[in-house]
Amino acid sequence: MTSSKKALITGVTGQDGAYLSKLLLENGYEVHGLLRRSASADVVDSRLKWIGVAGKIVLHDGNLTDLSGLIRVLNEVRPDEVYNLAAQSFVKSSWQQPLLTGTVTGLGAANMLEAVRLVCPEARFYQASSSEMYGLIQEPVQSETTPFYPRSPYAAAKLYAHWMTVNYRESFGLHASSGILFNHESPLRGIEFVTRKITDAAARIKLGLQDKVALGNLDATRDWGHARDYVKAMWLMLQQDTPDDYVVATGRTVSVRDFCTLAFSQVGLKMEDHVTVDERFLRPAEVDVLLGNPVKAKQKLGWTAETSLEDLVAEMVDADLARLKSHEHL
Ligand code: NDP
Ligand code: GDP
Repeated sequence: MTSSKKALITGVTGQDGAYLSKLLLENGYEVHGLLRRSASADVVDSRLKWIGVAGKIVLHDGNLTDLSGLIRVLNEVRPDEVYNLAAQSFVKSSWQQPLLTGTVTGLGAANMLEAVRLVCPEARFYQASSSEMYGLIQEPVQSETTPFYPRSPYAAAKLYAHWMTVNYRESFGLHASSGILFNHESPLRGIEFVTRKITDAAARIKLGLQDKVALGNLDATRDWGHARDYVKAMWLMLQQDTPDDYVVATGRTVSVRDFCTLAFSQVGLKMEDHVTVDERFLRPAEVDVLLGNPVKAKQKLGWTAETSLEDLVAEMVDADLARLKSHEHL
């Protein structure tokens, strides 16, 4: 497919930013990304190198907390589509940094919406909302109509960003859509998230680099999909005539314990021999179960999750093994 469209991605150096950049380049887009300044530039774009898009996208200095910089970047790029993926995205850190999380993850989205309204109100806008907004769940299977009950500063900030997106759509007629994405993982997932922590540990233990891994709540369950599939749903939302909100999920939920079993069996080991529980990894308030109903995304976007959990785990473990053998770090 070819296109002459321009897209701006915030959070371009993150897991989803890398996969979305690849998808949009494959679809013929000119891809621009917002890059916040870091002292170690080579670390910052390691995901973009891994996925093969480094050098193929145009990076612009900016920070979600700096409205004037966002206005400048939008004026430079004049995008057709804006994907707001940037966030302080780690739930556990949000208790240690509640105000930063609110500023970046919540107010940052408001900054981006306001910048779009002022500079390019005809651009289509995607907000990275989260299943964490369901928190203390009110219905066993969560859909677009399930009430929210955030259980962390991160979730509260995401809920504010979500409603601001709805509000800018209703108040100013922006083509603003919100994807309520359930957990999605990949070899590019941050190492602090439980899936990558487990696959990295399974690979290290297999290679004799360590013997144990300490985790927190093994009974929590998540609806885990593959980031590569989920960025397609983001793109599809912005191709619709009418903006809307969509749950993006697999419809299957599995415990952290079961994820461990799958990852360790991938390298011929038993999780019981290597996983310990350490209360340092427990949270002040937990989201016990998440299970999404992706029917609306299927019916309206024609989207379904293509990768099974088993294939996702195998891909992540294999990638970690390969990375450790080649002494690469991510
Ligand atoms: P990552 O943590 O991998 O990426 C976050 C990105 O945000 C990074 O590029 C980071 O830049 C950037 N960023 C952080 N703070 C700022 C700031 N102040 N200004 C500009 N950029 C900033 O997240 P994912 O790719 O996994 O997720 C993408 C989005 O989707 C996030 O908003 C996340 O909260 C949300 N989400 C993710 C889910 C998942 O399961 N992955 C589920 C539901 C929602 P840097 O590289 O410099 O740190
Ligand atoms: P989240 O759903 O965005 O918070 O994604 P995480 O991958 O950080 O956590 C998913 C679930 O795994 C949560 O219920 C955590 O409490 C649980 N969990 C158990 N042990 C760990 C751990 O060692 N690290 C992390 N990050 N989560 C853990």
